[in-house]
Amino acid sequence: MRTHHCGELSVHEAGKEVTLAGWVDTLRVSGKISFLLLRDRTGIVQVFLDKALTEQFQNVKPQSVVLLTGMVNKRPANQVKADMKTGEVEISAKTLEVLNMAETPLPIEVSEDTTTGLDKRLDYRFLDVRRQKGTDIFTIRSKIYALTTAFFDKEKFIAIQTPKLTASGVESGAEEFKIPYFGKTASLAQSPQIYKQMFVVSGLERVYEIGTIFRAEKSHTTRHLTEFTGVDFEMGFIESEHDVMAVIEKYFQFLIKELEKECKEELARLGVHLRVPKTIPKLSLHDARKILKEKGKVIPEDDDLDAEGEKMIGAYILEKFDSDFVFMLDYPWTKRPFYHMRPDKDKKVTKSFDLVFRGVEIATGAQREHRLDILEAQCKEKGLDLKNLPFYRDIFRYGCPPHGGVGLGLDRITNQLLDLGNIREAILLPRDPERLTP
Ligand code: ATP
Ligand code: MG
Repeated sequence: MRTHHCGELSVHEAGKEVTLAGWVDTLRVSGKISFLLLRDRTGIVQVFLDKALTEQFQNVKPQSVVLLTGMVNKRPANQVKADMKTGEVEISAKTLEVLNMAETPLPIEVSEDTTTGLDKRLDYRFLDVRRQKGTDIFTIRSKIYALTTAFFDKEKFIAIQTPKLTASGVESGAEEFKIPYFGKTASLAQSPQIYKQMFVVSGLERVYEIGTIFRAEKSHTTRHLTEFTGVDFEMGFIESEHDVMAVIEKYFQFLIKELEKECKEELARLGVHLRVPKTIPKLSLHDARKILKEKGKVIPEDDDLDAEGEKMIGAYILEKFDSDFVFMLDYPWTKRPFYHMRPDKDKKVTKSFDLVFRGVEIATGAQREHRLDILEAQCKEKGLDLKNLPFYRDIFRYGCPPHGGVGLGLDRITNQLLDLGNIREAILLPRDPERLTP
């Protein structure tokens, strides 16, 4: 159908005849002639329509799909539009065909400075993504996904896909969606925790999964969804949780470095300036409490940080260490699940951490308790019985190496990296307590 894409055109094509196809961004009739901005997934190009074509097509509606052929012309320097990917050339149309006319009026405003609210835009997400900003966000998200896979592959992790229909998770049952399952009740997985530990123990040693995670929390925040994409990994033969943090640090260094290279134009258009992290600072929760207390915020000893506390610590770390990231260490036992390992010297804390990126938690990880007797005791302390999770218990019975891992959120990473202000901007079709469509 096409010979070129809009964004591929440059002065090198000047004088060539090309066939382009895409959506009509705008059509501006100026007397007897007109200018059509044509968009495809690569960018926008301006198309000049002469008198005859203008007469024939002046009623073409915005967002209609058209196919056209025309001559590529270099534009005079003073007319070059910097905001267009192909601002340096213009097409002089020879033929134009409307492949599919769009209805009017459009249900949302499809423009870069749209005034349509987020909720309405999400109702018509397929139209919303036609904006350059939408295309850019999801191009970058796709690249984050691909680079994540590339990173774990490079680091010799094995990709696993684990069940999302489960009997029950190992975390608190309150967060699970229950669904009927042939006369029984199944839960939608709220973490691949059991399985990633299982397949470290299987001898695969290092596993990762990029998969859907469900959380039945009635949260109405800019960082919670009921369905999101988790990036989980788990690794065997570690000495401590610091080995896990080292992999995470390497991951973000790789991810941001490659994104800067591969999504240069998208990031520039979004006005996003990324910084490759150096060594990520580590701060114990104990010290964080002291810092926050000085700033007038009190976090009790057996509590962890709330959203405001994370934000304040993010600001402190930026100022003090010039870092966007911080690992928060030593989370209280009262706030962590039973399978987090505790250090010998202090049973009130766990060998666990959170990663806070620009003031928002994007990951929780830990060294796991791999010694069955201690694990069973920890379970009891939490008022649970490991015998009720026989498949999980078995993992620790037949040769279980010391291991640890982490759960990251792809949607949160994207939201924080691109500073979008709401996690719903970072996912095509968000699910939250209010939204189940489209
Ligand atoms: P929070 O305290 O912010 O509610 P959490 O501690 O309950 O998060 P974890 O169980 O630690 O979340 O999940 C690991 C990671 O998965 C989080 O750090 C985050 O990046 C992501 N995540 C967790 N819950 C959600 C959610 N409801 N929506 C989007 N991402 C989430
Ligand atoms: Mg967490």
